[in-house]
Amino acid sequence: MQGICLECGMSFSEDTRYCPKCDNALDLQHDGSTITVDIAHDGERVSEALRKMQSEIDLAHKAAAMCIRLIVGSGLIRDEVVLALRDLKFRGDIKDFDLESGNRGAVLVRLKD
Ligand SMILES: [Zn+2]
Repeated sequence: MQGICLECGMSFSEDTRYCPKCDNALDLQHDGSTITVDIAHDGERVSEALRKMQSEIDLAHKAAAMCIRLIVGSGLIRDEVVLALRDLKFRGDIKDFDLESGNRGAVLVRLKD
């Protein structure tokens, strides 16, 4: 898989961390977009929802999104997702997250500054 440097348009291979042309830190780049993913309305069990969350966060990182909005519902999945996100934040995999005001069934996860 290849990516495109958002700074200069140079394409690079996935294992590169800095743009070969302009030297920009590629894993810090984002296009300002928010990706919305529903991880809890398909009858998922908690473990399945958490797996889905992790793979969607990985995908959003690769797609250079700024935020990912997880639709988590109102039950056990939400509680477990919040715990998992706390862990991801501690490890530095995400910047921050917040239960959406006015819609507690959704969590907004900030991936990059
Ligand atoms: Zn570049």
